[in-house]
Amino acid sequence: MHDFNTVLPRPGRHGGGASAFTDAARMSHRAAHVARMRAAMVRNVPGALTPAEREDLLLMREEEKIARDVYVRLNERWGLRPFANISGSEQAHMDMMLALLEHFGLPDPVKNLGAGEFHAPALRQLHDEFLEKGLRSREDAVQVGLLIEELDIADLQKAKSRVEKPEIRAVYEELERGSRNHMRAFYRWKQHLGIGYQAAHLPQAELERIALSEHESCA
Ligand code: ZN
Ligand code: ZN
Repeated sequence: MHDFNTVLPRPGRHGGGASAFTDAARMSHRAAHVARMRAAMVRNVPGALTPAEREDLLLMREEEKIARDVYVRLNERWGLRPFANISGSEQAHMDMMLALLEHFGLPDPVKNLGAGEFHAPALRQLHDEFLEKGLRSREDAVQVGLLIEELDIADLQKAKSRVEKPEIRAVYEELERGSRNHMRAFYRWKQHLGIGYQAAHLPQAELERIALSEHESCA
């Protein structure tokens, strides 16, 4: 039997600054990572986007914002460590998408929008539904985490299937790798809490294959 308490800090155990150093290290690692991705991206001459590429770039920027905004709120409500860590990672994903939008000269669809705000009613509704469920209980919150990561992976796979530009593909692959790690973290909590989860956007077997495989470090 695996002792989850050794790897899963209990909610509320980390007071204010207990893990400040870890957070600072994590933040600088993320900033360096985003800078590396941006530097690699701008080595490509930005070609004309296909309509599908353009649509997907705008959608993925907003979808990463949904994840970040929901996780920030769920962290405030439940104090579960993965929500704090992963909301920071979603910020990095948003930053990578913004870098792509700038590279291709597209406007930022979430410019000047506060937490939980979206222009597209469908995205706002998605955000509100995730948040409402996640605020019900810790168990619901963990299920929402799995649901968001599943949706993110499914949409990234869809976007990847029709992308032509290598610099966009590289970012999507990076976001997908991040999402697989997030899914692993939430799945451990699912097991820890002894709750069920039915896949909604990916085949159940694929979800479990991802969730139960090893953490992937960044290149
Ligand atoms: Zn993400
Ligand atoms: Zn994620």
